[in-house]
Amino acid sequence: MTNPSGNHVRATIVGSLPKPSWLCGPGEMFANWRLSGSALNEGKEDAVRVWVADQEKAGLDVVTDGEQRRRHYIWGFYEGLEGIDTVNLGKRMQRGGRYHKEISAARLVAQPEWRGPIFADAMRATRAMTGKPIKVTLPGPMTIVDSLIDTIGGRSEEQLAFRFAELLNQEALALQQAGASVIQFDEPAFNVYVDKVKDWGMAALERATQGVTVTKAVHICYGYGTEDVKRWKTANTDWTHYDATLPLLAKSSIDQVSIETAASGVDVSVIEALRGKDVLLGVVDVGNDTVETAETVAGRLHAALKYTDPGHLFACTDCGMMPLSRQAAAGKLRALAEGAALVNATM
Ligand code: ZN
Repeated sequence: MTNPSGNHVRATIVGSLPKPSWLCGPGEMFANWRLSGSALNEGKEDAVRVWVADQEKAGLDVVTDGEQRRRHYIWGFYEGLEGIDTVNLGKRMQRGGRYHKEISAARLVAQPEWRGPIFADAMRATRAMTGKPIKVTLPGPMTIVDSLIDTIGGRSEEQLAFRFAELLNQEALALQQAGASVIQFDEPAFNVYVDKVKDWGMAALERATQGVTVTKAVHICYGYGTEDVKRWKTANTDWTHYDATLPLLAKSSIDQVSIETAASGVDVSVIEALRGKDVLLGVVDVGNDTVETAETVAGRLHAALKYTDPGHLFACTDCGMMPLSRQAAAGKLRALAEGAALVNATM
């Protein structure tokens, strides 16, 4: 991304924010909508309006719709495609069984097809609410394939990922047309299958971004701040996954890379591999409701400035804030912007 704000640290979030109680229960991974029909649409738009205003008021440089309109970050995309059953679920291992042995998964029941823009109308509606640059998130091809039960068969995982990359590309181009400033692909699977990232994951990601001229981002994390994930993080001792993937991303056409450092054992020096790219640095933990102070955020940003330039650094969350309380998420938005402002005041 070019640096429209000069040589300053900016602030943004990964994507999701908690949904208000008029939409679903607190922290539901798959929102069980409390409204239906036009009332649901109205409720979703109101939720987006609240969060866009909160992000603007906090002073974030790039905003999102908080994924308020989606049941889940992957399923919101699945539901718009042809060929995926998100009602009659199966179970499968995901993310190499890192967090759960098996988890409910949607099923591929016919050839996947993109029948037209899925999130473009939503992007236009958000565009009408704010003059700030807007980021939209899409699940990445490797993460899609790792989250789906293929009942059709006949294709390798790689071939299926490339098919989804083609569909994602159509959606990305539609979102660009609808006014997105940043299109981010969420690829938590990149932190699990580092060999596959090298073999075909990067190529599939590049295919998904073909022809995209707005900022292209990828988010790679160790999962939401849920109890299962926190348990795994506490026991984990190997934090070298980014060491393998970031040098590959450095050679790619991706402009921005979002990684987590606040709640993991990742050494921030790993971002040195990304010099020249934007780094969305996770400096806010999404696994608890304790709001970081601006000084804590600033300290983490200062540590990162040994390895990147301020104009390429964003204060960001580790992952989506969907599982948090609304109050905590709002506080963390402010901490991000205030922490970045503290660092900028010293330059
Ligand atoms: Zn994440």
